[in-house]
Amino acid sequence: MARYIGPVCRQCRREGMKLFLKGERCYTEKCAIEKRNYVPGQHGKDRKPKKIVGYGLQLREKQKAKRYYGLGETQFRNLFEKAAIMKGVTGDNMINMLERRLDNVVYRLGFATSRRQARQIVRHGHISVDGQRVDIPSFVVRAGEAIAVVEKSKKNPTILANLETTAHAPTPNWLEVDRALLTAKVVSVPQRSDLVQIELNEQLIVELYSK
Ligand code: SF4
Repeated sequence: MARYIGPVCRQCRREGMKLFLKGERCYTEKCAIEKRNYVPGQHGKDRKPKKIVGYGLQLREKQKAKRYYGLGETQFRNLFEKAAIMKGVTGDNMINMLERRLDNVVYRLGFATSRRQARQIVRHGHISVDGQRVDIPSFVVRAGEAIAVVEKSKKNPTILANLETTAHAPTPNWLEVDRALLTAKVVSVPQRSDLVQIELNEQLIVELYSK
């Protein structure tokens, strides 16, 4: 009998690419994309990949971004609305805000092995921003702010195990981390080029929402 892969990995298989949703497993040969890179479902294996164009392509790109960052439609749409009224290129603004979400930052710093886990760590009150505990995963950090694991959570076994697991994961240029002290700093705003794990055409998402 085929092993049950679970809904998280199905999302990657639907997009036909690794979205890194499951932490440590994503970097091993146990990854479902490494094992069977075809769309989920009974006949997925036999289905020829369809050429997607126009609206379908825009929709796929949006789904991919939502899944990658773990956001629902309303959250994602709200973020787009904010990005659209900011100065500069809307697509860049969107990526910038997605990356600066506190859950993403905690994941990027290696305090968590996935964004899903990072959200839990934030919600449980393990993280502070500029010395104040912040338990809102959608909180958007700014350049110059200090992020840390709060004092009473510095020995939290999950966080310590995560740091070991992510020891070799590169920290993006816009963040600086002290893994021994469990503190970090946002040194600058993230650039589009910092998004390296997946290919994303944010312009298609902007087109979709601008209709
Ligand atoms: Fe599952 Fe991670 Fe592989 Fe995606 S990248 S299929 S979440 S193991």
